[in-house]
Amino acid sequence: MPRSLRTALAVILLVLAGQRRAAAAITLDANFDSGSLKSYTVAGDTVRLVGRDSYAGSGNNLGEGHWRWLYFKASGVQGLTPTFSIEGPFASDATPGPHELSQHEMVYSYDGANWSFFPGANNTLLNTGDSNPANDLFTFRASAPFTQNDVYVAYALPYPYSRTVAHTQAVLDSPWAAPTASASAGGVIGQSPAGVDDLGRSIPALDLFAYRITNPATDGAAPKRKAMIVAGQHAAETLGLYTFEGLVDWLASDDPRAAALRDKAEVFCYPTLNASGRFAGLTRAMLQWPNTDSNGYWHPGPSGNDYNSPQRTEQQLNAEAMRADNASTPAGLDLFVDFHSSVPDWEITGPNGWGPDGRDDWGYITNNAASLNNPWWLAFRALQPNILQVNSGTGPTSRTSTGFALNTSYGLGAAMSVTFENQFAISRPVAYYHELGKNAGLAMYQAWIRTSNPQPGDFDEDGDVDGGDLAAWTLGHGQPRPAAHYHGDANGDGDVNGADYLIWQRQYAVGTSTAVPEPRAAALAGLPLLALLASRYARRRSLCAA
Ligand SMILES: [Zn+2]
Repeated sequence: MPRSLRTALAVILLVLAGQRRAAAAITLDANFDSGSLKSYTVAGDTVRLVGRDSYAGSGNNLGEGHWRWLYFKASGVQGLTPTFSIEGPFASDATPGPHELSQHEMVYSYDGANWSFFPGANNTLLNTGDSNPANDLFTFRASAPFTQNDVYVAYALPYPYSRTVAHTQAVLDSPWAAPTASASAGGVIGQSPAGVDDLGRSIPALDLFAYRITNPATDGAAPKRKAMIVAGQHAAETLGLYTFEGLVDWLASDDPRAAALRDKAEVFCYPTLNASGRFAGLTRAMLQWPNTDSNGYWHPGPSGNDYNSPQRTEQQLNAEAMRADNASTPAGLDLFVDFHSSVPDWEITGPNGWGPDGRDDWGYITNNAASLNNPWWLAFRALQPNILQVNSGTGPTSRTSTGFALNTSYGLGAAMSVTFENQFAISRPVAYYHELGKNAGLAMYQAWIRTSNPQPGDFDEDGDVDGGDLAAWTLGHGQPRPAAHYHGDANGDGDVNGADYLIWQRQYAVGTSTAVPEPRAAALAGLPLLALLASRYARRRSLCAA
């Protein structure tokens, strides 16, 4: 054999050997924020997954099969289309349906932030209905080879603790958010205790946050409408965190309706009810008490099922912060919402998510007339018609967060308290949860601020024609057709222009004796006086939602 041919052959053999090594070297890792996987085996292109035994729900203490969460990184997958498999029931609870994963699509991402769904056509489930769970085998694979070497794979859209840290910092950079009375300058109310999880991983102490969103310039006027929103109680209920994020981003946004809400309302925000459990990749529990559901200990002790004895640090810190913050401003608490979520074992289809079985996002509310007819709740459901209502027995003696919110002796004395459950679904991107959160905020505006029959120049429809309306017009000037009234369209012609400004100016002049800009000059956008006046009401800073 000629030397050149021998060399070429050697090179080819080396390349082939390298490829074989690469193909055989799929490895998985879940040792990162929110990651969760007990073990795995690789045989060729098939990866068998074993989730960790984790507390999953009422009556399900630690035990095999109670997963309800899975999040790992697979390496060495470029150019491959591995088949992932899960044997046996995934959650092993009483969830109805032939199998908990039968209509499920896992998700994947190359960067841990932008997620795609494993296509349903490639999802298979063998031996459905077999009474032996060991015969149930769920497999999933991508429709084309992975284009990068590392891919993140998860049961549902992950929301790691680090995302809450980044989001909280972004919100606190806004002029409309500040640490609550109980928090430090960085918005920190305390830290979760460090510990070691069931996989032997060290989990660090983590900051817990609380911040208040309002217009600080209107503090000290009339007592404000008051809401508290909380999230992250159940570690793996990540969709609730995206909804919370969408709500917060809207509350702190330039939207004139959000600005009008901030003038007369304050919203206290607690995104880290269970930072340790989320970081450790648990299902429902906190790291400190991995065998229990933390949402049954919202009571100061010692009296059993309490957060003092034995101590539940994260719960105690959050509960005491909420009580102190509630007392730090004069008004009573109008609304408390605890954002949870679930991953159903059925497909939710149809416009806006309606499912064939009538299952969708829902709220647990107290079964009494005041709750059933609560204006915020009615407005929220009108904006988001797929939301279902579940009348629960939750009252002020319940040891859930919503019971704590209702209680008037040791709790928050809220007029309305909701556990909100939004659902993972195959068709739903992160944008769906953000929009849901925005609608929860719009419902506050509609229920508490918006007046009927507003004057044409009252763009934010809060009952007066003032600088807030000029800010709305300034922001909406040049808005693509058709503009809405709240954008600054006073005459209903679909444009926001000088004619709308003149209507605002006339009505503003009637309501005040203050001199206002000359019509001819004011009709030209961008005049210094106009800009100055508007800027007093709306500092144009946007939040990064990423
Ligand atoms: Zn939950």
